[in-house]
Amino acid sequence: MSEAVLSLQKLHKRFGALQATNDVSLDLKQGEIHALIGPNGAGKSTLIGQIAGNIQPDEGRVFLADSEITGMSIAQRARLGLGRSFQVSSLAEPLSVMRNVMMGVQALQSHSFRFWKPVAKDQQLLKPAYEALERMQLSHRAWTPVFELSHGERRQVEVACALALKPRALLLDEPMAGLGPEGSAKLTELLEALKLEVPILLIEHDMEAVFRLADRISVLVSGSVIAHGDSHAIKQDPRVREAYLGDSDA
Ligand code: ADP
Ligand code: MG
Repeated sequence: MSEAVLSLQKLHKRFGALQATNDVSLDLKQGEIHALIGPNGAGKSTLIGQIAGNIQPDEGRVFLADSEITGMSIAQRARLGLGRSFQVSSLAEPLSVMRNVMMGVQALQSHSFRFWKPVAKDQQLLKPAYEALERMQLSHRAWTPVFELSHGERRQVEVACALALKPRALLLDEPMAGLGPEGSAKLTELLEALKLEVPILLIEHDMEAVFRLADRISVLVSGSVIAHGDSHAIKQDPRVREAYLGDSDA
């Protein structure tokens, strides 16, 4: 058996005449960050959607460890251990950081146990929420309302929301977007430590962060993976330089 935590096999997705995903196979192994890069419109978010479950592929299969999740709902995938960062707008601004993270845990628990336990006890929610905040170095902000946080801290909360569900694999779609150098550097440092516990499939435009963090990089152009390798190989690859990095001496 493969040691892959997440495995995509020959995924295809069309939107009308547009081939948004073209025969994409890749995997995510324990202990690594696998970065997915590519120009705007390359199909990165469409691919993440097919993993997370909000987009169904036309063809191909998705596995989480040994379970095929291709036809499963978003909630089923989350319960099996697929973690995904949420958009900033999904945080409840007036509520505390802790309450936001706890609500995420509760949503999953109350769904799976709803037949016999309508409301999960706070204590059951506090512990995983607090641990996730500690891993994101935000426990000192636990009782601060979200509207008081910096942009970077909000991103850390979003990752904490995903972590509190104890995922086996984490999908992050442009977590550095909109962050200044300080926020990016902080998140980069946190993700570097986090990958030892949870492997991460990372979509990111910030190439400095990608080259620092990624153990492997796949380059997507027009729906197809055109190159795959470590940072060094990707920087040298002439197809990548032409298609994505431009012709500068990257
Ligand atoms: P990326 O995340 O790499 O910027 P996307 O996955 O968002 O790329 O988009 C890939 C292509 O698919 C783009 O040309 C986009 O316009 C198109 N696309 C994405 N979602 C839809 C949709 N729901 N319907 C039609 N076209 C879509
Ligand atoms: Mg995108």
